[in-house]
Amino acid sequence: MLSVICAWCGTSLGAKPGGEGVSHGICPPCARRHLSPFIEPLKHGGRPAAAEETKT
Ligand SMILES: [Zn+2]
Repeated sequence: MLSVICAWCGTSLGAKPGGEGVSHGICPPCARRHLSPFIEPLKHGGRPAAAEETKT
């Protein structure tokens, strides 16, 4: 079994089949804390920065 732990806080996220050792993931609290700066603009209808470049 492959142990999955949160790469940020070390919380165990469980285990999954497919090998031996440790795999890193991210737990929901850390996902909100660390990834929300990237997710929030999308939830608020923000457009990708690349879209702005097509105006010129
Ligand atoms: Zn975590």
